[in-house]
Amino acid sequence: MRLAQRAQGIGASPTLAMNARAKEMKKQGIDVLSFTVGEPDFNTPAPIAEAGIAAIREGFTRYTPAAGIPELKEAICAKLKRDNGLEYAPGDVVVANGAKHAIYNALQALIDEGDEVIIPAPYWVSYTEMVKLNGGVPVIVPTRAENGFKLTPSDLKAALTQRTRAIFINSPNNPTGAVYSRRELEELVQILVPRDVVIISDEVYEKLLYDGATFTSVAALGPEVKDLTVTINGVSKTYAMTGWRIGYAAAPRALAQAMANIQSHATSNPNSIAQKAAVAALTGSQEPVQQMLAEFARRRQRMVTGINALPGLSCGTPEGAFYVFADVASLFGRTLRGQKITGSVSLAELFLVEAHVAVVPGAAFGDDRYVRFSYATSLATIDEGLARLHAVLSEVR
Ligand SMILES: *Cc1c(COP(=O)(O)O)cnc(C)c1O
Repeated sequence: MRLAQRAQGIGASPTLAMNARAKEMKKQGIDVLSFTVGEPDFNTPAPIAEAGIAAIREGFTRYTPAAGIPELKEAICAKLKRDNGLEYAPGDVVVANGAKHAIYNALQALIDEGDEVIIPAPYWVSYTEMVKLNGGVPVIVPTRAENGFKLTPSDLKAALTQRTRAIFINSPNNPTGAVYSRRELEELVQILVPRDVVIISDEVYEKLLYDGATFTSVAALGPEVKDLTVTINGVSKTYAMTGWRIGYAAAPRALAQAMANIQSHATSNPNSIAQKAAVAALTGSQEPVQQMLAEFARRRQRMVTGINALPGLSCGTPEGAFYVFADVASLFGRTLRGQKITGSVSLAELFLVEAHVAVVPGAAFGDDRYVRFSYATSLATIDEGLARLHAVLSEVR
């Protein structure tokens, strides 16, 4: 069967692919330790789960308005005001099937054939593919470790063209954990606003901050910035609710309306039960978030120290999210058990086969010199996984 051009240009998500391989080996009885996961390993806090169960019991199981129930939109507006200093009305909010879907809706509503979308690298794997699926052209702009993996004003200027339509800003960042300061964001929006470039601000990791790092929502930088910004967020990462599939966008009214219309024809409303659970998440006690954050902070320290003790690997201390992006380039060209290490993919392959440890190659995020370790896993797994890597890496010649 012949597939459409657009389907032919798209690969499966490489992070999911690596995870699937690790699972397959586990099924064969191999004790694989995985640092590939892109989700909290905690269960959804009980009061949130109970709200979902109550929704089923009460028969809240029918179609809802396509862009979400008023109660949830109100809760999102209250959250955006409380946490981010943003004034949005329910009509500016579209509740979607996850933040990923909210981003897809935004691109559907914004991108014409050939429009360019700037994506600072390293980037979350789906940005490039979602842009291509919508007829756009991803313009990858590499960042550098010396700049904390953050886009510089001069690199941004050099990437702008007549066709630039939008840019992704993802702070805290997946995969690097980079967090932009208010000042750094201000320097970028000063360049973007006069050029009318739409800013897609992916803020799903806003609550996962360490060492006193502070979060700034892009739209909070001023009314002219807010008029060009789509704020993307969701409950997946903050509340350990990845399977519930609730995310949202807040945007200027005309864009929000267009996104709601598109969603109404593509998927209709997000799951009614999950919407009720999301209301509980946003309006209930935020104590579980703090508990998860404290646990992530402990693991991060262990992971960073452990990686820097591995022969040939090095990393900085990320300020946000739950990933460490480790530089592995010093290993390239060397050999391990007779096999040449040629890049991040071959190294990840060797880690999996020789040490039974799964990581995601940096190539998946647009930078081959790195691999990504997720620390959304237990301290015991971190200790044991790093010990296995240490043993294998000691044999590199
Ligand atoms: C996990 C993730 C998302 C998507 O989250 P969902 O709400 O589960 O769709 C979006 N952006 C980044 C950077 C992520 O890591």
